[in-house]
Amino acid sequence: MLAHSFYFYCFVFFGAILARYFIIAGGAYFLFYTFLGKYLTKRSLRRFPPLSGTIRQDIELSFFSAIIFAVSGTLIISGYDLGTTLLYNDLHKYGLWYLGVSFVAVLVLQDTYFYFTHRMFHHPKLFKWTHYGHHRSGEPTPWSSFAFDPPEAIAQALFFGVIVFIIPLHFITLIAVLMVMTIWAVVNHLGFEVFPPSFKSHWLGKWFISATHHSIHHRQYRLHYGLYFTFWDRLLGTQDPNYETGYCYQKIIEIEAETQRHGDAEIR
Ligand SMILES: [Zn+2]
Ligand SMILES: [Zn+2]
Repeated sequence: MLAHSFYFYCFVFFGAILARYFIIAGGAYFLFYTFLGKYLTKRSLRRFPPLSGTIRQDIELSFFSAIIFAVSGTLIISGYDLGTTLLYNDLHKYGLWYLGVSFVAVLVLQDTYFYFTHRMFHHPKLFKWTHYGHHRSGEPTPWSSFAFDPPEAIAQALFFGVIVFIIPLHFITLIAVLMVMTIWAVVNHLGFEVFPPSFKSHWLGKWFISATHHSIHHRQYRLHYGLYFTFWDRLLGTQDPNYETGYCYQKIIEIEAETQRHGDAEIR
């Protein structure tokens, strides 16, 4: 028996998910694009200022993503009410160590799922209707972090809808994963690099995706498909070989500006 009606859950989840988006993505945008931006010009990954039309499109897509994630959340909590999921709320049921292990396991599984579905969405036959919306902003802002075409949003929400039936997860673990997902996505779409230049080649940092890493994906569709970790990109040869040791973000921008100038000259 459900503790609340299906529509009540949907409404509450939708409100919470949308509020989370406006607070974290909107807050980061406000902070970096009005206050901090002028002090961080050397860390900017942008060539042009963001366009208000593109931001509006990102917010529209995120609105639909919030509906899809709200339905997914409702199905999960309904499953919990009916006792069909492996979600639990007793901290000591599997021991405290399990909270950490299951947290890392879900991040690794989600990263793997994301890498392969993301590559699939870039297939020419699928791209237009599954992933084009996310790439409409060639230079993303935090508003792009939740901007998915509905098929992609369904695929991403499905991960959580399935994982709660496969792996026992405490509610705290699930919420922690959702928070990491939100914050990481905002950082990756920030348009500014928050980590030092040495992060890309640091023995630990090189395994994590950063704003620089993901901004290259938004310009070079055939590279950098990962979500949290660079593992799959490195293993399957979709990481730019110059990423670690080569150019920094300013250099990327200079190279692209140069290419653009040549292209313009050829057209003329
Ligand atoms: Zn993509
Ligand atoms: Zn992106």
